[in-house]
Amino acid sequence: LSNVRAAVLEAFGRPLALRELPRPALGAGEALVRIAASGVCGSDVHMAGGADPRVRLPLVLGHESVGVIEETAGQVRSRDGRELRPGDAVAWDRGVYCGSCAHCAAGREHLCPSRRTYGIHYGGSTPPQLAGGYATHIVLGEGTRIFRLPEGARPAELVSCACSGATAAHSVEAAAVAAGELAVVLGAGPLGLWTIALLAEAGARVVAIGRRERRLELAREFGAAHVFDEAATSAAERREAMLEISGGLGADVVIDTTSSLEAAREGLAIARRGGRYVNSGAAVPVGEMPLRLYEDLVQRDISLRGVWVSGSAHFAKALAFALARAAALGKMVTHRFPLERANEALEAAARDRSAVKVVLEP
Ligand SMILES: [Zn+2]
Ligand SMILES: [Zn+2]
Repeated sequence: LSNVRAAVLEAFGRPLALRELPRPALGAGEALVRIAASGVCGSDVHMAGGADPRVRLPLVLGHESVGVIEETAGQVRSRDGRELRPGDAVAWDRGVYCGSCAHCAAGREHLCPSRRTYGIHYGGSTPPQLAGGYATHIVLGEGTRIFRLPEGARPAELVSCACSGATAAHSVEAAAVAAGELAVVLGAGPLGLWTIALLAEAGARVVAIGRRERRLELAREFGAAHVFDEAATSAAERREAMLEISGGLGADVVIDTTSSLEAAREGLAIARRGGRYVNSGAAVPVGEMPLRLYEDLVQRDISLRGVWVSGSAHFAKALAFALARAAALGKMVTHRFPLERANEALEAAARDRSAVKVVLEP
């Protein structure tokens, strides 16, 4: 049996510490998974820096992973009810829900006040410590929605389903996009790219606004008919172009995957009268933006919608989409690091301009 190691966040703003940990004793209903790949999410960078109010230290980061079951205690079943056994390749919803609150009962489990997320909430004194993806192993507790992967699934190409994929699926559902609608996506990171791909699948005409060459190339590849480089065009020029594309109306729907107040202002301005503005990108507190109730909202009949994380159905949707198009989505993976180089992986996600999706392969 292999050793158990984890890159542990012990102090905010400090490098992760590589620790050897005892092999955990499993409780009934738990599974020990050997991690094959874990994504580095933009929010990991925020968490490592201390910007996320949910985090308690010490913490093993990583909320998007794929792996192989090494051991189970008692019966562990997949989301569709099949018994899971050692050797099964699996992915799982990063969120765990109570299943009985009003939100869970109403099918809005992402709002469950007891929702806990691997790699985010299981820090501090909460056992087990092996509850994040920056490790060789993770313990999946009872109530985790586990999905068995088909033969030949490629882990690194699937990790983004758990966070950006599921959140994008939730956003597109929340935006209620109809075929033929003009949809503008702000931001072309993994969340933006996933949103573009799912909007294109839904039959929308997609416009992408983002930066960095590699990301804009992928935006085109994933189905954006028009792509604007933020760095090379002004907001006024983009608004002009949007009016032209839409025959003078503006966008039917804007999905903002950024946490930028400037982008939010632009998004509101390019939505048509009667249009929708949806934000899925503000993952940490970013401050206030002024809104003129009459001019910006009421007179223009604008719907404002926030999208908070995702539920298991969104994860299932993203996973099915990715399994059908793994090669295409795999192009997002620009960097791969072993666990020992987790700090370099975080650094690349934070600062390397060529990075789209950074993956740890413990
Ligand atoms: Zn994430
Ligand atoms: Zn609940």
